[in-house]
Amino acid sequence: MKKSVTATLLCTALLCGCMKKTPVSTQSVLCADCGFDTVILLQNIPSDQYAQAEEILRDEFLRYDAMFDIYNEHDGGIYQINAMAGKEPVKTATEVIDVLLKAKEYYTYTDGAFNAAMGSVLQIWHNAREAGLAANKEGKPGEIPDDTVLQEAAAHTGWDSIQIDEEAGTVFISDPDASLDLGGIAKGYAAGKAAQRLAEEGFEQCVLSAGGNVVMLGEKENGKPWRIGIQDPNGSGVLAAVEWTGSGAVVTSGDYERCYTGPDGTRYHHIIDPQTCMPADHCRSVTVCTEDAADADALSTALFVLSVQDGEALLEKWREDHPDSFVEAVWLLEEETDTKMHTTGIGGLHAYWTDGLEGKLDWNK
Ligand code: ADP
Ligand code: MG
Repeated sequence: MKKSVTATLLCTALLCGCMKKTPVSTQSVLCADCGFDTVILLQNIPSDQYAQAEEILRDEFLRYDAMFDIYNEHDGGIYQINAMAGKEPVKTATEVIDVLLKAKEYYTYTDGAFNAAMGSVLQIWHNAREAGLAANKEGKPGEIPDDTVLQEAAAHTGWDSIQIDEEAGTVFISDPDASLDLGGIAKGYAAGKAAQRLAEEGFEQCVLSAGGNVVMLGEKENGKPWRIGIQDPNGSGVLAAVEWTGSGAVVTSGDYERCYTGPDGTRYHHIIDPQTCMPADHCRSVTVCTEDAADADALSTALFVLSVQDGEALLEKWREDHPDSFVEAVWLLEEETDTKMHTTGIGGLHAYWTDGLEGKLDWNK
């Protein structure tokens, strides 16, 4: 995958590293070539364990990148599963099966708003974005994909053609025109797994960030909460910090990353509403806090696609079905909306957040 430094990551770095003084005996590990088209940052690592931490990051993220990368060939990963669509099943890693099963669950759970089997449609947008970004660089607008082409592709996005054989450890896409794209969940999953490995190897108090997917491990030594930045969708700074004590994951989906400007001056971004096949436009960003980073990643993408009201209902259902866990969210919207959630105006936008985050958001006002 292509490499780029995301502003989100830098914001997180700013909050954890500069605004709060890091103890001298700890430092950060920055990994710019560990895949996932992003920079991986691990903060609050004891200085004498720097090399070990870096090796773990490299190991874990490169391994998962090979499994979930759809643009470069890797044996037994999603790339090969897509290439073999309509031909034959592909033997794959248990982790790929795990993520696919979770993605399928979220497809049902979100009534199709989160659809990792929408590769056919997402590929069209990926191509339009690449061409659009190149055109924008020359001062020209990018093009919007043709609706007929999008609708034709949308006929090949059902999970009925994705055959997951857990016992054999294989995946077969029976429709040759269908494909998988796990971009909405894979980074969170990898971040969660890398954090788990760090914990197993004795790293007890650190924060891992992979392009808007942040995992906190343990409590800060001074008892103060971790501070995770919520990026300003209209700029490069942060609008707020989530102040979180203890372990958990904070994941943001926003419209300000991976986007290009179209002929009408509108920004076209990378989170696509499966109902319209167009970039979702209910909000500017959604940040989800929960225990598991893969859940937080899938939920943030799903909430970004849904209206705030449908998103609130989804979280309500999620809480009922996961009574031992928690889920909280913050939305940033251009317009006001009808909800009983907590709210404030910030940076020309309207923020709304769930009860569990009340008192845990610092709005930098
Ligand atoms: P980011 O990749 O910036 O962290 P997200 O986690 O929200 O953001 O994932 C966006 C990615 O998910 C897109 O680049 C694409 O690969 C995929 N995607 C886009 N729309 C959907 C959708 N409706 N359901 C599932 N995956 C999606
Ligand atoms: Mg996501």
